[in-house]
Amino acid sequence: MISVRLQDGRVEVQDVPRPARSPGFALIRMLCAGICNTDLELQKGYYGFAGTPGHEFVGEVVETDNRDLAGRRVVGEINLDCGACDWCKRSLGRHCPDRRVLGIVNYPGAFREFLTLPERNLRVVPDAIPTEVAVFTEPLAAACEILEQAQIPCSSQVAVLGDGKLGLLIAQVLNVYGYQVYQFGRHSEKLRISEKAGVRTEVARAEVPAAAYNWVVEATGSAEGLRQAVRMVKPRGTVILKSTLHGLVGVDTAPIIVNEITLIGSRCGRFEPALDLLSRGLIEVQDMISDRRKLADAPQAFEQAARKGTMKVLLTAG
Ligand SMILES: [Zn+2]
Ligand SMILES: [Zn+2]
Repeated sequence: MISVRLQDGRVEVQDVPRPARSPGFALIRMLCAGICNTDLELQKGYYGFAGTPGHEFVGEVVETDNRDLAGRRVVGEINLDCGACDWCKRSLGRHCPDRRVLGIVNYPGAFREFLTLPERNLRVVPDAIPTEVAVFTEPLAAACEILEQAQIPCSSQVAVLGDGKLGLLIAQVLNVYGYQVYQFGRHSEKLRISEKAGVRTEVARAEVPAAAYNWVVEATGSAEGLRQAVRMVKPRGTVILKSTLHGLVGVDTAPIIVNEITLIGSRCGRFEPALDLLSRGLIEVQDMISDRRKLADAPQAFEQAARKGTMKVLLTAG
């Protein structure tokens, strides 16, 4: 079968044997997978990664011991946890110290024709959700995670910084939940996607409004974003950090202390709320698809995904 491999900055397509299924695992045929910024970072060698990336996928279960999953279209939670530690017992396996992470940490990812994942990681995709839409479940779950971590009072004003894929999903999720969302970005054509959903957007000028919001979500993917977020938040307000940055971010901590600002780090979330939103057609994701490419064309797909202005590039089976 075809499998994508990252090594020393190169994207290679290899022919490898189909993976063997361990007990408790399902064998899944990949139908569609999304290239995310993390994959581009893995390509650059962050986390010392070499191997098969891919953690946003939709597949069809071809071998399983679980009758409810056999033959079904599924998405998969990306953390393979131990199931036994304190974190796992609290259903927080994504913080399990022994976790492996699909396509990121010690576990080959979804950019291959067949993959395996624990059956308990899989969620059946409701028929109402097209495969190309369901592939956004994982990043959408990361957007929904904000609402699990922060108790934002009903109909509050929330600023979202950044108009990349994650920023657009976050703005739409908060909007669906009834918050007054103000999204700041650099690209009017990207902001149009969340505007269509009813989000107020603004092409960011040099200066963002200072001390203007109680809640600011930072999803710019840049070091400057955190500085801007700290500037925008009101005293006693909360900044939610969604950008994973490599290297150090220089931030003046004095305003954070003086203004008693709360910082919340936020990563990935449960799939159920995301699948629910997608099945009700409440999140626009199709406008975010820049292109679809065959798995065998992964090198070109990665090149395209890295180009400025590209949004989601999907890899399809075959
Ligand atoms: Zn991702
Ligand atoms: Zn554990």
